[in-house]
Amino acid sequence: MNSNYQNYCAYMRKIADVQFAAGVLNWDQETYMPSKGTNFRAQQLSTLAGIAHELATKEELGTLLNKLSKDTSLTEKEKRNIAQSLKNYNQNKKYTTAFVEELSKTISETFQAWQKAKANNNFKIYAPHLKKLVQLKRKECELLGYTEHPYDALIDQYEPETKTKQLEILFADVKNQLVEFVKQIAEKPQNKDNFMFLNYNKDKQWNFGIDILKQMGYDFEAGRQDISSHPFTTNFSSEDVRVTTRINENDINEMIWSCIHEGGHALYEQGLPASEYGLPSGEYISLGIHESQSRLWENNVGRSLAFWNFNFNKLKEYFPENLNNISSKDFYRAMNIVKPSLIRTSADELTYHFHVLIRFEIEKALIEGKIEVDDLPSYWNTKYKEYLNIDVPSDSQGVLQDVHWSHGSFGYFPTYSLGSFYAAQFFSQAKKEIKNLEQEIEKGNLNPLLNWLRENIHKHGKYYNATQLCEKITGEKLNFKYFMDYAKQKYSDLYNI
Ligand SMILES: [Zn+2]
Repeated sequence: MNSNYQNYCAYMRKIADVQFAAGVLNWDQETYMPSKGTNFRAQQLSTLAGIAHELATKEELGTLLNKLSKDTSLTEKEKRNIAQSLKNYNQNKKYTTAFVEELSKTISETFQAWQKAKANNNFKIYAPHLKKLVQLKRKECELLGYTEHPYDALIDQYEPETKTKQLEILFADVKNQLVEFVKQIAEKPQNKDNFMFLNYNKDKQWNFGIDILKQMGYDFEAGRQDISSHPFTTNFSSEDVRVTTRINENDINEMIWSCIHEGGHALYEQGLPASEYGLPSGEYISLGIHESQSRLWENNVGRSLAFWNFNFNKLKEYFPENLNNISSKDFYRAMNIVKPSLIRTSADELTYHFHVLIRFEIEKALIEGKIEVDDLPSYWNTKYKEYLNIDVPSDSQGVLQDVHWSHGSFGYFPTYSLGSFYAAQFFSQAKKEIKNLEQEIEKGNLNPLLNWLRENIHKHGKYYNATQLCEKITGEKLNFKYFMDYAKQKYSDLYNI
């Protein structure tokens, strides 16, 4: 290996060391840190973020990357790593220190204002801060540059090389096909799910969750599960990937879906090549692809009848008093109730995408300057009526429900839907390539699926971008048809349509 490339690897690993150290502190903050630890923890995190940023923008790195980008002796994988690192380096260089400081200050003020506004159901507390933040985001688009649409610059931070135009096509499909289908479901009688909300002992739920993670192939020697108020996955290398879950004793859904969802994220991280630590070839492709892994396990596997034909009896052994007269089919029906609702995070797997569609339309209009922050509450409520046929009773349950905008995360929401759509397309291909996949799931054997994901997705790191990966695996670009076919097949049966 040439010595410049070796220096590059060593340099990138140093940056990763600092970032992952911050990751450990973050994980600790969300799980075990005593309440008085907050102040110094914030300082420690900000110091580490500063060090990582300094390393990532040093001239020394730029010189090395530029030299390597002209080196024709590199392998294809090495070239791809250099191209990705150089792109990041150049992006980082576009931000002036003054801009970064102003953005970070505005974000922390906006976040605080959002918390207050949500608690008091008062959008006016949030509006002046959000206005400032939106101005900065519009400025950021100009700083970063774009060829077609300013929003492209923001999407690129979460879903590299995906354009506003592609999202417009996808969400037009959601609007034209899925909205109509959900209307048909809404006219049908609803399935029962009252037994999901009986008392489910915490410790037994925990044990069942661990059983499921083991069945999925999550490696407990390279990870652990803890409790946190918002479930998440974090990693400090592919050999230390941690998940958290949340348990509600009066709603078995929360633990089951967070466990499988985070487990899916974690399997992706555990499957990235450890030998590529700190390099793009050892990283996930995009948030959309990350989410495709969590959603594939959560929805395509976890919300299937085959999966519960195997697991329902196990759950029943833990909770015979609650589930005695319930069949796996009843349980399957209950977990797949489709019903328009107010809150994105608790939406079913179909109407979920209307929540994302609304946020996408709003973000795009905001960045284009077609609407302003003061228009948000009424704009939001009109869209909820239009797509979900729901009246929003308060801004707390409406435009104030998500944290994302207060963090300045514009362009993030679409990745949630991309995740489900990629998942449907990948899963459809897996069914073609894995012999008797459904029967294997029904036997509790999830290994063939995990191996397929490892081989086709995980092991490549960031070598391909999302579109290239999708074409390589399925022979075509992301196509909404696969999600719609999955939805129609599953829910026509569930609702007798
Ligand atoms: Zn997720």
